[in-house]
Amino acid sequence: MRLWKKIVISTFISTLLLPAASLSSWASDDNSDATCIKCGQGTMVVSSVEYSPWEIVGSAPCTHHDPWVLDEVQQRTVTTTYVCSNCGFTESLRAEETQVVHHVEEED
Ligand SMILES: [Zn+2]
Ligand SMILES: [Zn+2]
Repeated sequence: MRLWKKIVISTFISTLLLPAASLSSWASDDNSDATCIKCGQGTMVVSSVEYSPWEIVGSAPCTHHDPWVLDEVQQRTVTTTYVCSNCGFTESLRAEETQVVHHVEEED
């Protein structure tokens, strides 16, 4: 009976550790040190930034000054293209941007 308990606990810990480990490796993937992954010498510099049109993805209670009003939640994709200063290798990174737009209801 004791052995059974031990197995259950160790399984529980390993499943808990797994998302944390993958999360930290994902965070270190963030391109903050901008050395080129192809030549390892050049620096990745931003060559262009593209924004998709804002899309309405939902609504949220207003946080401005009208708590009884629903504001619009909008999202867009930002595509940043980097180019290596040494070998010309390009890499694009996509990120989602969210904004909340306040709506004023017109009264007739
Ligand atoms: Zn390079
Ligand atoms: Zn608002």
